[in-house]
Amino acid sequence: MGVPKRKTSKMRLRTRKAANRWHAPHLNKCPQCGSTVPSHIACPSCGYYRGRQVLTLEGK
Ligand SMILES: [Zn+2]
Repeated sequence: MGVPKRKTSKMRLRTRKAANRWHAPHLNKCPQCGSTVPSHIACPSCGYYRGRQVLTLEGK
């Protein structure tokens, strides 16, 4: 069985853990309606994504 030769140092461990730390999603302005929308997500208020209507909105 493979066994680590060296103990993982605190810095190495923390550097590794920092790579998959949670961070706030990147927010973009919707070019269609100007509301704040996470990137790679269709705008929930106007239903546009990459200049195209992709969601059918009930109501208005
Ligand atoms: Zn929009």
